Amino acid sequence: MITLENIDKHFNDLHVLKGTSLAVKEGGVTALIGPSGSGKSTLLRCVNLLEVPQSGRVRIDDAVIAFTPAGKVDRNAVLALRRKTGMVFQNFQLFPHLTAIENVMESLVTVLRRSREEARQRAMDLLEKVGMVEKAEAWPASLSGGQQQRVAIARALAPSPKVLLCDEPTSALDPELATEVVEVLAQLAREGTTMLMATHDLRLAATIASEVVFLDAGEIVEAGSASKVFRTPERNRTKQFISTLT
Ligand code: ADP
Ligand code: MG
Repeated sequence: MITLENIDKHFNDLHVLKGTSLAVKEGGVTALIGPSGSGKSTLLRCVNLLEVPQSGRVRIDDAVIAFTPAGKVDRNAVLALRRKTGMVFQNFQLFPHLTAIENVMESLVTVLRRSREEARQRAMDLLEKVGMVEKAEAWPASLSGGQQQRVAIARALAPSPKVLLCDEPTSALDPELATEVVEVLAQLAREGTTMLMATHDLRLAATIASEVVFLDAGEIVEAGSASKVFRTPERNRTKQFISTLT
């Protein structure tokens, strides 16, 4: 469904992703774990091409782009691929000048050219799904972090992406507020939403991930089913890292 093949990403002299390959199954949830600086955010950003890799292939569904150091990147292909993704950030990043429902409607109206009426209906359905209907007309600044993140999840889902990319979706939240976000993501997972998420939150990963990938210094050290990687990791490095998660 989603595959990354041999992705290389350099920032000048810094070689962040070193021929990284990864597959996410349709309807599955893959948790990307690894120390700070290991390249998790960069990897997620290479899926939606917020970062453009120097080499490798990115495939989502029927859209594929191959990158080569000398090759020119086809902007339309990048946009087509990006539209198959929805992204949830650590710090929510809601548009501050738009209400909760307007945040969710935004891409539907401006990118997908839906009527405001139709967009509003879809946004209401999504706010319902994340338990935020009562706050539809609220401004982001008046919402708790957990509420903002739930609106951000609804916004990411609005254009019906093939994959929901989440970058540390609970790390900016107190445990109590993280719980409401974990519950929303768990519900989406049960409904078969395909997700790839970077997280340090063991509870989040253990609750919803079907697959776990352990990334260290831009290389995949271990990957497999969540129960296998969490309970009986093969590599010492994985074992050691998992023991640091809380
Ligand atoms: P993680 O999300 O696992 O903490 P990141 O993907 O954010 O790791 O970062 C991996 C490495 O790439 C780090 O050393 C980071 O400083 C570096 N890096 C990330 N983004 C950029 C950038 N835009 N320019 C330069 N270096 C970057
Ligand atoms: Mg990160």
